[in-house]
Amino acid sequence: MLQQDTITALVTAVGESSVGIIRISGPEATSIANKIYKGKTDFTTAESHTVHYGYVYDAKHDKKIDEAIFLLMRGPRSFTGEDVVEVQCHGGMVVLKQTLQLILSCGARLAEQGEFSKRAFLNGRLDLAQAESIMDIVQAKTERGVDLALSQLQGSLSDMVKELRADLLELVAFIQADIDYPDDDIERLTPEEYQSRVANLKEQIASVLQNAQKGKIIRDGLRVVIAGKPNVGKSSLLNALLGQERAIVTDIPGTTRDVIEEYINLNGIPLKIVDTAGIRETDNVVEQIGVDKAQQFVKHADLVLYVVDALQGLTEEDTQMLDEIKNQHVIYLMNKSDVGITDEARAAFADAIGGAPVLEISAREKLGLDQLEQRIMDLFFSGTLEVQNDIMVTNVRHIQILEESAAHMEGFLTGLMLGMSVDFLVIDLQNAWEKLGKITGETVEEDLLDQIFSKFCLGK
Ligand code: GDP
Repeated sequence: MLQQDTITALVTAVGESSVGIIRISGPEATSIANKIYKGKTDFTTAESHTVHYGYVYDAKHDKKIDEAIFLLMRGPRSFTGEDVVEVQCHGGMVVLKQTLQLILSCGARLAEQGEFSKRAFLNGRLDLAQAESIMDIVQAKTERGVDLALSQLQGSLSDMVKELRADLLELVAFIQADIDYPDDDIERLTPEEYQSRVANLKEQIASVLQNAQKGKIIRDGLRVVIAGKPNVGKSSLLNALLGQERAIVTDIPGTTRDVIEEYINLNGIPLKIVDTAGIRETDNVVEQIGVDKAQQFVKHADLVLYVVDALQGLTEEDTQMLDEIKNQHVIYLMNKSDVGITDEARAAFADAIGGAPVLEISAREKLGLDQLEQRIMDLFFSGTLEVQNDIMVTNVRHIQILEESAAHMEGFLTGLMLGMSVDFLVIDLQNAWEKLGKITGETVEEDLLDQIFSKFCLGK
């Protein structure tokens, strides 16, 4: 499916760097390259996958814009599947802008967000899940996030989806044959066989979905909120975890005015940690804004680190706050263990949280932090991050589709259990098959495509 127009965009980051790359893709790519080039090559006849030295040249004004290297990749062996010329200029913004304008004036159009990837998809160079993984690679916050996205780019999810769809289609074919040739002597499956085969497919999806939560955390980070009364050591804990003095630590209660957000890398998992301005009732307007915001953060956090001061002990404020977060993942921390924790303090805390485990730490002396990290790993990753052989779905769209298609399979299985004929239930398998095709893009609608690709950055 060849596109009509030729598109162009800066594909490297905007800003100064030693090299900036502009990509031209489409049927006119080589003729436009000829128009902006001064050197020895004719791009319309030059061999594919070759490198050409020369100048970006504005013929109209007889002006050399930059010394550059031109890369020629003819379709279909290019990123987009179309003819592609990439111009590697020096990285200055002025030069890149002039070059881009020159290319536009020679008949190319500025690419929309994600349009290169969209063409790659439409030309069959990538399936949709792979195209989406490109976006994930660009946005990944840790190396592990990149690994995940790369494995998806290599098609691990797509392969599974293709197998599931092939299996579903085979079952549909069996049922169809049964309906069409009821009297012929053809191979048939028993209800038990249908049951076990569909249950097996559903099981595969279920196990992938189980992993999805891990995957989402690896990609997006775990939203962690440090909560507790003023002066219990929340900022100090954030600093200790960050390993550097970032938040301002003071002795005056309530001085961490706003909400501070930081990323830390815990063994490959990005933690998005929020230090709140001391969640408590206040009359101070500025502080109130911070408090409101903080309460929102706490509500939406994946994990709350609730800090109590070993010296101050527990107060009414703590009890109230602890009650509000009792349905969330909470790790209870008693800070300032360096000054000594009394048995009364321990008992009071344990009492308030119904005997849940309390970690004793010292944010200032950096004691107990390893145990805290381990507790986080235990809570969300069953102690380990080993996921290598499993397919890890991170994309919300993919998760939703997998859930929906599993629901159709469930419908099929329930129907069988109720003694319904597979003739009536075949629709469930067809629906599951169709849903799954949306992951790889085989059954996806045009407007959804636009929506997905518009989330890409320019130049992707
Ligand atoms: P926040 O208001 O909860 O953010 O508390 P801060 O982090 O600003 O700390 C309040 C005070 O407690 C500061 O004087 C810190 O130095 C002190 N502090 C924090 N952590 C510890 C600790 O582990 N041990 C001791 N002795 N003091 C601490």
